[in-house]
Amino acid sequence: MSAYVSIITAFPEFFRGFLSTSIIGRAVKTGNIKVEIINLRDFGRGGYRKIDDYSFGSGGMVLAAPPLADALVRARELRGEGGKGFVVYPSPQGALLTQGIVETLARQDHVIIVCGHYEGVDERFIEREVHLEVSVGDCVLTGGEIPAMVIVDAMARLVPGVVGNDKAVTEDSFYAGMLDHPHYTRPPNWEGLQVPDVLRSGNAEGIRSWRRTSAVRRTLRRRPDLLCQAGIGPYLAGRVYVGIMSAQEALLTSQHLRDIALLCVHYGAQRPVCIVPERDHRRSLQGSSGPSSPRLMPSLERALDWIARREKGVAPLTLLIGGPSLSGARHWLELKRLALESGKPLFFLFLEGHPFERSGLKGDFLPLIFLEKKPMPLVGKTAVLLDRFLGGR
Ligand code: SAM
Repeated sequence: MSAYVSIITAFPEFFRGFLSTSIIGRAVKTGNIKVEIINLRDFGRGGYRKIDDYSFGSGGMVLAAPPLADALVRARELRGEGGKGFVVYPSPQGALLTQGIVETLARQDHVIIVCGHYEGVDERFIEREVHLEVSVGDCVLTGGEIPAMVIVDAMARLVPGVVGNDKAVTEDSFYAGMLDHPHYTRPPNWEGLQVPDVLRSGNAEGIRSWRRTSAVRRTLRRRPDLLCQAGIGPYLAGRVYVGIMSAQEALLTSQHLRDIALLCVHYGAQRPVCIVPERDHRRSLQGSSGPSSPRLMPSLERALDWIARREKGVAPLTLLIGGPSLSGARHWLELKRLALESGKPLFFLFLEGHPFERSGLKGDFLPLIFLEKKPMPLVGKTAVLLDRFLGGR
């Protein structure tokens, strides 16, 4: 994957330093990214190469549509391959630039960024040619050149090889929907302020755990809104389990279990646990074997013990997914936060028509509001839930 970007601008000199300095400079030199600067003034009209005019109805200057359209044709010619390119107009009225948008742009064959200036760009050009308007923040800048640099910079980081250590990119803020952990460098003591001891201990597991906890803490404190799109799997202190308790044989078949086991593999959850009290039903579900085959248990108590044993004695936080009768149910987003804060493994327990009886059970149980309005098959519910908690963005 490499990135090819054309930038249409009336001020090409903005980009000279940007495209020849540091990481971006290296990426341009090695051909990991190609950035074509197209000078809008080359397409200006008349002896003065006019590219703008007064806003109708009074106001400042506006970039005119004809030179912009000609510059766009030129950008496509230079790229070749006959495509139209994906046209982006940086604008304070656009969608706020996110890592998701950057990833979309990084996957396009050709991105064309049209930099506005003065009062902006003739609306007819935007309506006819622009695929996406993006804003770099709720503030107004003098031109689209700095936002264009922001877009190219963020795209370039996703091109393999541009940032030396690919792991650094996958651990960055927003990559999995969470904020990055704090970073420190030498000296270990700066004016009395110490680097956390664990980071200098050489204990790899301790460092991983500190980083995970710090990332969780700062995301919840600074940007709790990110939680709705974060895949929290790597940030949980324990593993994730899916369990099913069914009141009737018909509600839980071998096919259901196979499909759920596949979903668990896909989302990085452990093999599913099925609580089936009747021996005959258990027998009918037995048969499939392999690392992802379901674990059949005669009681919930046994299932919880099994999970705790695999989690160094820590009982899981169990999220109950049942019918509307579950009192005290909480929104999934709230439970996602609690799952991160709990420091425990996570157990999604589907109660398929099964009345839940807590007495005598160890651990925390929290009912979850399942938001789908109409009834959904078990496999569908499992997919939705795993994706909301463990699926990235
Ligand atoms: N009259 C426009 C408005 O209020 O929406 C603002 C025009 S601004 C002064 C000039 C140019 O700067 C815009 O055409 C756009 O390309 C760029 N620009 C300004 N603020 C921006 C932002 N927050 N994000 C992206 N581009 C911005």
